Amino acid sequence: MNTQAFGVKIPDGLMRSVKAGRIAHAFLLSGPHGTGKRTCANYLTQTILCASPQAPCGQCPACKKVLAGLHPDVHVVGEEEKSISVDTIRALRDQLALRPFEADRHIALIPRADRMTAQAQNALLKTLEEPAGGNVFFLLTDQPGAMLPTIVSRCRRLRFSPVSVEACAEILAEKGVEPGRARLAAACAQGAVGRALEIAGDEDYLPLREKALSSLKALSGGKAGVARAISFLGEGKSAAARAPEWLEILEVVARDLMARENGGTPYGDTGDLKLDGRALLLGVMETRKLAASNVSFLAALEKMYLALTGSR
Ligand SMILES: [Zn+2]
Repeated sequence: MNTQAFGVKIPDGLMRSVKAGRIAHAFLLSGPHGTGKRTCANYLTQTILCASPQAPCGQCPACKKVLAGLHPDVHVVGEEEKSISVDTIRALRDQLALRPFEADRHIALIPRADRMTAQAQNALLKTLEEPAGGNVFFLLTDQPGAMLPTIVSRCRRLRFSPVSVEACAEILAEKGVEPGRARLAAACAQGAVGRALEIAGDEDYLPLREKALSSLKALSGGKAGVARAISFLGEGKSAAARAPEWLEILEVVARDLMARENGGTPYGDTGDLKLDGRALLLGVMETRKLAASNVSFLAALEKMYLALTGSR
């Protein structure tokens, strides 16, 4: 195995065949956010386009342009779009039909491939069925189930998964993150190294965790404490914007409470918090589901907090 930055492992056989020019024309990289899909796609793109026999050298103009996101023959598609339309895919197909500027082929990167509409996926399928000029596609997704099976079956599949929390914390510590912070960030990210690095570098995250703990402590006041518990989240839009992180933090607190109940080692200090860890974990799952289905996050959180006041 070839270990790269972020702890991403690329199979040796794959690296050998890419270096030898035997390249699949479509790759599907799937796994949770922050597990290294983009890093791997960039690394393979460099390997394909690098001019050096020691590809990827990281030094030649092609390598540098790929790293900087400035290579004219690397097409990143739909990165900012909530839904990738058939027109976007047709425009890509038109670009790929032109002669490349600098490389001997085009590389197309679709970072959120699951956001393609069904029509867009069908248009892409046609391109994948009739590959031209050695062009290579990288499709990235954290929801492979949202992809057409016919597309999936035409791709070389690479799966990405979080590492253990301990291994993740070690990688962060090697990158200079203070060990205690590394351990907590690794736990909050549940072993997704890229996400853990984001958390460790986010000055607002650990204060937010303190607020979340205070919020849960307020629930000891029974039903009357619920309004106060929610007030720690802040108000209006900024509160809703923090929903994913808030739930991420509560999930880790829940797992820590369960570890404490079972004599295991918690990742962070949960203080004298008296809550049923399992009930909190189930509450987090339910709240995520509700918030994804058009229920306002604050309403869903209130429902969970009310249920928890009866679960101590
Ligand atoms: Zn190079």
